[in-house]
Amino acid sequence: MALDKDCLFCKIINGDIPSAKVYEDEFVYAFKDIEPIAPVHYLFVPKTHICCAKKIDAENSQYAAKIFEAIAKVAADEGIESYRVINNCGEDAGQSVMHLHFHMLAGTKMGWGKQSLG
Ligand code: 5GP
Ligand code: ZN
Repeated sequence: MALDKDCLFCKIINGDIPSAKVYEDEFVYAFKDIEPIAPVHYLFVPKTHICCAKKIDAENSQYAAKIFEAIAKVAADEGIESYRVINNCGEDAGQSVMHLHFHMLAGTKMGWGKQSLG
């Protein structure tokens, strides 16, 4: 596990910055988003510094797979039947923290379509 001492989510993973943990295993850390946009808003991050989805490759894709396993586990444990997973990659997509993360949103009826693209 290679963490970056200057990265916000690496600091959350190693406990330097507190977070409301919802799940953890060898590969994945998940915690509540500090500014939730839905009743359930969790962030799932790999326990190694990967800046963004563009940098997922054959060497590290196991982390992405483990994140989706973790999301399914958390959903099952919490009885969440329907949810949305979002990854923002790059500036135009709205990525503000440069450590790969997947938003899990649930607990409300969500819109879809072009109008949801701001
Ligand atoms: P992005 O915009 O990069 O896709 O998502 C970053 C997310 O991280 C945002 O939803 C934001 O609210 C959340 N966030 C930023 N700083 C912190 C923090 O210190 N703690 C937690 N729990 N969430 C954070
Ligand atoms: Zn990081």
